[in-house]
Amino acid sequence: MTNFDIVVVGAGPIGLAFAASLAASDLKVALIERRSMADLAQPAFDGREIALTHASVKILQELGAWDAIPCSEKSPLRGARVLNGSSPFALSFDAPHGSAKPLGILVPNHWIRRALFSIVREREHARVFSGCKVVAAQVNPGNAKVTLSDGRQLTAGLLVAADSRLSVLRDLLGIAADINRLGCSMLICRVRHELPHHRIATEWFDHKQTIAMLPLAEGVSSLLVTLPANEVSRLVVMNDADFLAEMSQRCHGRLGTMSLASSRHAYSLVTTWADRFWMPRAALIGDAAVGMHPVTAHGFNIGLGGQHRLAEGILTAWGKGTDIADPSLLRHYETRLRLSAAPLYHATNVLVKLYTDERPLARAARHVGLRLGQHLPFVRRGISAALGR
Ligand SMILES: Cc1cc2nc3c(=O)[nH]c(=O)nc-3n(C[C@H](O)[C@H](O)[C@H](O)COP(=O)(O)OP(=O)(O)OC[C@H]3O[C@@H](n4cnc5c(N)ncnc54)[C@H](O)[C@@H]3O)c2cc1C
Repeated sequence: MTNFDIVVVGAGPIGLAFAASLAASDLKVALIERRSMADLAQPAFDGREIALTHASVKILQELGAWDAIPCSEKSPLRGARVLNGSSPFALSFDAPHGSAKPLGILVPNHWIRRALFSIVREREHARVFSGCKVVAAQVNPGNAKVTLSDGRQLTAGLLVAADSRLSVLRDLLGIAADINRLGCSMLICRVRHELPHHRIATEWFDHKQTIAMLPLAEGVSSLLVTLPANEVSRLVVMNDADFLAEMSQRCHGRLGTMSLASSRHAYSLVTTWADRFWMPRAALIGDAAVGMHPVTAHGFNIGLGGQHRLAEGILTAWGKGTDIADPSLLRHYETRLRLSAAPLYHATNVLVKLYTDERPLARAARHVGLRLGQHLPFVRRGISAALGR
């Protein structure tokens, strides 16, 4: 048996950020992760380019992770355009007028994980148990206990689930969640292209497909195509030439001639919302609490803000010498996360429903919706400000 103050299950970006956030204390933290240590130290490119808000950049700076990401991996986003079907009309989001700041900054997910892991590894307070899973969990009034797949048992004052939207720990703790498997997948790859992107992202809700183009280096974009899962499985294994020909056709030549600049990656789309984000001696963070649809690019941002607030509450309790799993602290964390995440989570789900509905009424409604958005400046400015926060 090994005793810790906090056991975190899942060393993804949010579990790692949480462990890094606690480094200011002498709390003993255990991180349990099914991936190997080599994979944690040097994660491979996974296709995801995370659009960071300014609030997220600030948290990563405070944690010391921002400077561990090379400048060449940070791509400022000047604006975004939302298109509907074949209409030439675009709803535009730009950085607030007069602001020198970009709307957000795109950073590859594997670089965020690598930078956060390097911070956690430098600190003495956290011990990483890699290559193993949690197979049993129990919470008692005084502590929590987990059993690992290799038979080891760990106890802690607080158990934290950061093990993805399909969290096993959440199930082991008996916390229910709304899990919505959308039946479609997202295919992602980087492409080199002929036409300039001007650092503008494009989200294009076309008939029976959604395409996003995220601007990276000059002449390079991340291409994201959402389609029924079987279509994505077909595209993932297609040879490069046929794949590029089909992508050029699907993109209607918006980027000009394209060539592949990375491997292809596929993600099945699942959204989740846990019934509760805490129970005595346990809390859920990141996607284990709220698993957003990626179309509005906010899952990581919400998870990072959430873990930051939970860590702040814990550090305050630790500073005062009170219980780091005090129910009022965990309840406060839940309330604030619900308030910040619920509007975006539900609005994103409504948006996805409206923009993937092929019925004529829905198509007309989204056309009207985009024009209305463009002519109501407070809607556009409000969304731009929320993105750039
Ligand atoms: C295609 C795509 C694009 C996205 N783009 C954006 C974006 O632009 N902006 C944004 O804010 N968000 C974006 N997101 C969302 C973002 O990637 C997630 O919100 C973020 O990865 C959540 O981090 P996490 O640490 O909570 O979970 P995860 O990243 O899922 O990490 C969970 C970790 O737990 C480990 N694990 C799982 N089960 C166990 C177990 N039983 N035992 C031990 N370890 C376990 C896993 O190996 C993993 O390391 C995107 C998501 C996708 C799919």
